Amino acid sequence: MNTKTVIDSDAPSFETLGLAAPLLKAIAETGYTTPTPIQAKAIPLALQGLDLMAGAQTGTGKTAAFSLPVLHKLLPFASTSTSPAKHPIRALVLTPTRELAIQVEESVKVYAKHTPLSSLVVYGGVDIKSQTPALKKGVEVLVATPGRLLDHIEQKTLSLSQVQILVLDEADRMLDMGFMPDLKRILALLPKQRQNLMFSATFSNEIKKLADEFLTNPTLIEVARSNATNDNVSQQAYAVAASQKQAFLVQLLKEADTNQVIVFTKTKLTASKLARALQKEDISADAIHGDKSQKERIEALDAFKAGKVKALVATDVAARGLDISDLPMVINYEIPSAPEDYVHRIGRTGRAGASGIAISLICDDEEKYFAEIEKLIKKSIARQTAQVKTQTRSSSSQPDKRAHATTHVSATSAPRKSKSSSTDAWFNKPYEPNTAVAKAVVRTSPSQSRKAPVAALLGGLKQRS
Ligand code: AMP
Repeated sequence: MNTKTVIDSDAPSFETLGLAAPLLKAIAETGYTTPTPIQAKAIPLALQGLDLMAGAQTGTGKTAAFSLPVLHKLLPFASTSTSPAKHPIRALVLTPTRELAIQVEESVKVYAKHTPLSSLVVYGGVDIKSQTPALKKGVEVLVATPGRLLDHIEQKTLSLSQVQILVLDEADRMLDMGFMPDLKRILALLPKQRQNLMFSATFSNEIKKLADEFLTNPTLIEVARSNATNDNVSQQAYAVAASQKQAFLVQLLKEADTNQVIVFTKTKLTASKLARALQKEDISADAIHGDKSQKERIEALDAFKAGKVKALVATDVAARGLDISDLPMVINYEIPSAPEDYVHRIGRTGRAGASGIAISLICDDEEKYFAEIEKLIKKSIARQTAQVKTQTRSSSSQPDKRAHATTHVSATSAPRKSKSSSTDAWFNKPYEPNTAVAKAVVRTSPSQSRKAPVAALLGGLKQRS
């Protein structure tokens, strides 16, 4: 594998990358002025027809990095004819999730808007028949999740015999999600003579194996050290007892000077329960996970994007590929056992040059996972001690009297139901009005010295968001 850096000028422009005029026009209309580093590197190489193995974090502009050269290369084949035969699938983009597929195809449409090239997205979870008429009309760029693509192939609703360019987006996640057998089946159906562009946030040995198997003499490009995390993201870690996590999260969300936070959980069940618990705390929240219908997921995402929902509680799989620009904060409510997931999670913030905050709440059992994460990102993150202001009523058998007098209890309009899903008994207590808007901090253990309130611990939060 050879490593090449083609662009080393300080600030290359899209014009110098060699893209066709209709694409430059679309780029200008989106408001992009300068290519991102991955675009500056990948676009000229892809235009030369080389196979690429590109390491790029989410949020680096990788979608345009492959979409633009793909569209450029297909332009000579563009046809205004309505005959489906004139519009075979010439580029296939595979993504691990529906959300990512939808977002990628939306981007392709934007970049292709001044060309006759058409695109379509197909993904599972919706009636396959609804996707067939559009496929029958013919599209040059097909964005698909592997499973649904295979369904269409079985039903003979599409043919891959004319594919010239294959893009594997978020390849690491495709392997994590067990798509290797599907990928092998799909790749066997593609013409041998084709260009391959593979994008991955992390480079595991499996990814390298995949590249060896399916790519031809690929050029490796990286814009950041593989498995590194985005420098724009301020990473913070809090040691929190499992029983206090929920209260601490509520506190963080209430004190955060932002109204868009993705909260990550490991399971669908926790996501649902947590979203409900947050709602009971008057925090607008919704859950997004695999058990929700596509419609529900899109609605939740739209509400979040529109600022109607402050906290989107998501599992790793559901959150994959969400493109929410300028997301100021992500919170890891549960630490992922696969360290790569951490990289993906925090890649939701600090996108496209914006700064962001990633907060991890680590209980004792999760320390081992966080240690793995630190190994992967080659960075150690100091643990701060969570100061849970509202926790002592239930979590301590000998409550701190001073804390009682000053604890700020968040207002809820109705008594809490005793069958609340919370593991914290405090959340099951009826609402007791407390007029004291306290800033004093309750110590989590008697031995701890008094620390600053969370808002102060978050430091630059206000400036950053
Ligand atoms: P991606 O990594 O492809 O998910 O892109 C992340 C975000 O960056 C998206 O919101 C893109 O619209 C945006 N973006 C992509 N390229 C550029 C660029 N050259 N300048 C500014 N924003 C960009």
